[in-house]
Amino acid sequence: MPHQAVIGLIGGMSWESSSEYYRIINQTARDRLGGVHSARSLMWSVDFGEIERLQHDGEWDRLAEAMKDAARRLERGGADFLVLCTNTMHRMADDISGAVAIPLLHIADPTAERIKEAGYRRVGLLGTAFTMEQDFYKGRLREQHRLDVIVPEAEDRRIVHEVIYKELVAGRVNPASKAAYRAIIARLIEQGAQAIILGCTEIMLLVSAEDSAVPLFDTTTIHAVAAVERSLGDG
Ligand code: GLU
Repeated sequence: MPHQAVIGLIGGMSWESSSEYYRIINQTARDRLGGVHSARSLMWSVDFGEIERLQHDGEWDRLAEAMKDAARRLERGGADFLVLCTNTMHRMADDISGAVAIPLLHIADPTAERIKEAGYRRVGLLGTAFTMEQDFYKGRLREQHRLDVIVPEAEDRRIVHEVIYKELVAGRVNPASKAAYRAIIARLIEQGAQAIILGCTEIMLLVSAEDSAVPLFDTTTIHAVAAVERSLGDG
């Protein structure tokens, strides 16, 4: 039997994307191991209704407590490492790492590695307003990975954020929103983006390669595959 470290998933943010993580992780494990193999994993899935309210109220200390609680539950349950299934909540990455002895596989790191391997340096970032505007995510890409990160202008950021919170996390895929994202991606390319980071784990439900003239780097898929690689000891 192949050795598989246990993946501890902090999910539910939203479950629309956590179910994608679960699917991709198990599909990747089957592709790597063959037969009917699947991944060893645990998921602690939060109530996103509470999380979303705290985010928009700016209650980051309470959100950090919720993430630390999730991390501890997974550690107690036997997880060997943690995967936080959202970009935005990586604002609390250091709080999570400080609360448990097991490591956190930061979503920005495998994403940046794939971009650098492909030879790109200037990237456009789409995500929630928190991810596009605060420094916790862009800063890591810039300082630890030397990427040049650009974000949409204010009105486009508002649209990207609203589509995530009003539609995608509620399971709605709207063709008009897809068209809006296509136009926003095109404007990032005009500003010199050589690639686009889908830096919110639900965006892959709305846009795909044909919506962009440059390559898309989907954080959900990259993070889920990296989790399996880490689990199998080849990440
Ligand atoms: N899943 C999203 C992300 O990757 C947004 C939901 C959340 O705020 O956690 O940022």
